[in-house]
Amino acid sequence: MTSPVQSAKHPFAVTIDGPAASGKSSTARMVAEQIGARHVDSGALYRAVTAARLREGDDATLWTEGSVLHAAQRVSFRPGTTTFLANIDGEDCEDEIRGDAVTALVSLVAKMNHVRLWVNEQVRALSEAHDVVADGRDMGTVVFPDAGLKIWLVALPTERARRRLLQRGGGEPTAEALEAETDALETRDLRDSEQTQPAPDAVWVDTTGITQTEQVARIVALAAERRA
Ligand code: C5P
Repeated sequence: MTSPVQSAKHPFAVTIDGPAASGKSSTARMVAEQIGARHVDSGALYRAVTAARLREGDDATLWTEGSVLHAAQRVSFRPGTTTFLANIDGEDCEDEIRGDAVTALVSLVAKMNHVRLWVNEQVRALSEAHDVVADGRDMGTVVFPDAGLKIWLVALPTERARRRLLQRGGGEPTAEALEAETDALETRDLRDSEQTQPAPDAVWVDTTGITQTEQVARIVALAAERRA
């Protein structure tokens, strides 16, 4: 199927999908920088919608699709140097959307079909005038089915957990902390499994034993090949 997004308006799109904490966003940002494209983090949109709905203060068991979509109207994306930054009511919300409260509820919101349609529309609109590197779960399968390059980024769960903990600071994690984070990631993977599927034509990149610089270089080289 040909997507209207991938018409002549869209010279080149790279999609980077994969499970939680596989390094998609940081990799996508660096690839975008190196190939002169814009980075769009679709997960940040799901997170910002969740944060906007959380601000209303009621219990999440009461959240309806309509009320979440209503909250989504407060969310906008502001262009940064290479990436778009989520805003709620016109203000930066980066710390809030990465916090535990949002992480615990974002998969619930991401299961809502109309929310998915809304996010996909935003991603397409943000990508309309630029080459793009879009990361998420379904960028290569649903949003950019005709992308010039599709990457499926994977790493062992313990490795993903370790990287996530190191990112939060505090040095090398203890065995207990590593186990708890691995469990949390695997639970989120399970909740997201329906929408987290590799496109049949995706290139699999396993980052378990390689550095971020190596994985970025590999994707940039593939992008250059496909663009040529
Ligand atoms: O990528 P990140 O972990 O920030 O995404 C947060 C959540 O947003 C995921 O756990 C998933 O529930 C949802 N998501 C999604 N589809 C995408 C991107 C993110 O369902 N394309």
